[in-house]
Amino acid sequence: YTRRADRVVASVCPFCGVGCAVAIHVKDGRIDRVEGAPGPANDGRLCVKGRFGMDYVHHPQRLTTPLIRRADAPKDPAILTRGPDGRADHAKLLAQFRPATWDEALDTAAAGLARMRDAARAQGLRGRAVPVAGFGSAKGSNEEAYLFQKLIRSAFRTHNVDHCTRLCHASSVAALMEGIGSGAVSNPVRDVAHADFIFVIGANPVQNHPVAATWIKNAVRRGARLVLADPRRTELARHAWRTLTFTPGADVALLNAMLHVIVSEGLVDEAFVAERVHPGDLAALRAHLQAFAPEAMAPLCGIDAATIREVARAYATSPASMIFWGMGVAQHSHGTDNARALIALALLTGQIGRPGTGLHPLRGQNNVQGASDAGLIPMVLPDYHRVGVPEHRAAAEAAWGLPAGFLPDEPGLTVVEILDAAYEGRIRAMLIQGENPAMSDPDAAHAREALARLEHLTVIDIFLTETAALADVVLPATAWPEKTGTVTNTDRTVQLGRPAVAPPGDARADAWILEQLARRLGLAWNYGIDPHGGGAEPGSGIGRVFDEMRGLMPALAGLSWERLLRVGAITHPVPTADDPGHPIVFTDRFPTADGRAHLVSARLSAPAEPPDADYPFVLITGRQLEHWHTGAMTRRSAVLDAIEPVPHVSLHPQTLARLGVAAGGCVVLRSRRGQITVATRADEAVPPDVAFMPFAYAEAAANLLTIPALDPIAKIAEVKYCAVAIEAV
Ligand code: SF4
Repeated sequence: YTRRADRVVASVCPFCGVGCAVAIHVKDGRIDRVEGAPGPANDGRLCVKGRFGMDYVHHPQRLTTPLIRRADAPKDPAILTRGPDGRADHAKLLAQFRPATWDEALDTAAAGLARMRDAARAQGLRGRAVPVAGFGSAKGSNEEAYLFQKLIRSAFRTHNVDHCTRLCHASSVAALMEGIGSGAVSNPVRDVAHADFIFVIGANPVQNHPVAATWIKNAVRRGARLVLADPRRTELARHAWRTLTFTPGADVALLNAMLHVIVSEGLVDEAFVAERVHPGDLAALRAHLQAFAPEAMAPLCGIDAATIREVARAYATSPASMIFWGMGVAQHSHGTDNARALIALALLTGQIGRPGTGLHPLRGQNNVQGASDAGLIPMVLPDYHRVGVPEHRAAAEAAWGLPAGFLPDEPGLTVVEILDAAYEGRIRAMLIQGENPAMSDPDAAHAREALARLEHLTVIDIFLTETAALADVVLPATAWPEKTGTVTNTDRTVQLGRPAVAPPGDARADAWILEQLARRLGLAWNYGIDPHGGGAEPGSGIGRVFDEMRGLMPALAGLSWERLLRVGAITHPVPTADDPGHPIVFTDRFPTADGRAHLVSARLSAPAEPPDADYPFVLITGRQLEHWHTGAMTRRSAVLDAIEPVPHVSLHPQTLARLGVAAGGCVVLRSRRGQITVATRADEAVPPDVAFMPFAYAEAAANLLTIPALDPIAKIAEVKYCAVAIEAV
């Protein structure tokens, strides 16, 4: 690090939802190093991904020219099967395509999508019945997410548009919207500095939100009591006052037992409930909770009644208690019920609306909050305006120059539903930007076959991902450090990123690609977006997109592009031009019709696929510190890939002994949907009847095993729980 940078560019880390501010040092047109900057979420701190992981931008496999599938290369998911060394044969994947000019590729992509649209129009189809769908990206900018959903809705007259929030926090958002009228966090992570009691459930922040974990650990050092609840005894347990290693899938049993203690031991904050909760809800919840005494729930959740009572009392009686949760709560067929119980904990005890309290679903991707805010969801328009409300549709139609009554009133299909429809031929064309469902969707073999069956698939991405390898047209896009844009982190903080380096070859800005496609699909878009990702000044193309977007979003109404350029970061809601933003919300009312919250009873239901004699283990999938989601970026980062180069399954030493396998030896994991061979890792944090696997590795794709069982409300898949068999190789 002795080389002097040619320039240093302020931006945001492209990986997790913490949203750490970074200073990108550029030398000779390449990213030389990355340092933490004093941003609102990190104050200079970074984890290994933020500091060492950005070299994926310069990887030789970056796409540099548009690609069109060769006529003699039929789509075949079998091409994704890896060789003996586990690595993808990139040359083989690339050989399916021929280089094309931008005009030819854009024309081909637009024609493929328009063909299905025109067929739908001829049949008078609209809404869900339109055989076109789009997956946008939580890794792109807010402006890209906004343009993507606008394109799908305006060009195809459908709300069949979704993104990875469906596989991430859809259940949390559904429960939060239902309970308190907002799907975002109530308090930022760093507000944990004011908490006396911290409840972390179904989250592993040391691995998945590392800088957030440092703020939690700081709070514990200051004297806060931390309770970690998770089926695995993860690293944060070293800092915990109590660790509840509960039975996988038994979240509702544990949480309802805690609620039972609160209502039966007089720990309800009656004044708060009387003022802030809908009349009648408490009585209904009280009646529901009668069956959930800790003594009755202990055998189900594996936590003794005395500990449940102790933790519930501590949560309720601490001056300020804060809840963090993650995918372990959300990714279940009962994920919405899990989140409902957490919301009830905060509402019953008045632990919300003050510093050091509240509800914080830790967002996964760097812009999953922003992409959701921007309306990249099949049931809502920007700012969570429901598609079923005529005034909301009318506002979007007016802003987008669409005829009155153009937008359908029924929600579109969700991620897993879209791929099921593609498998069955009801969805025939798709546009995918920066998502990799061939790796991230449950029952990945089914997802890959569904993608291959599409009559037309255009993918916008920076690498030839497993999904792009099944496309008809691949459009080379920009990585985050190559473009101007905003992202919104888990705290609701909107932050500006500026381009540090130029895109490689003939790669173009995603927003420019979307604008070009829109024009070819007959939409009169004229933002004037820079094809190479630049242009931040007021009046620039991206600035115009941002200002149009905020015009539809009361939460951002006071944040003009010009103001954002000045301040760099601000936490929404920002309703007026002089509003400083609101890191803590719900201080005096909830954003519901009457300002009051709803207490909703959480039902107890079993996981979709419990273990049995044939499949005796529970498989839990997740992430790890060094690799990000499907690995498209981090496995192309030299340092990160060097630290964790091969897939592994973590098993308890007793399990390894039972299987007769030494740590490091290989096993076959088999579910009712597929099988993989993978090396083992001894891990005492994993219970003996459980296997844990990251899903970042294509050569042992964990999602070949997972089950597509959906939460009936949020339609999130149960990728945190399925039954597997494990055998020594
Ligand atoms: Fe990036 Fe998240 Fe690490 Fe911060 S904690 S450096 S945002 S991956």
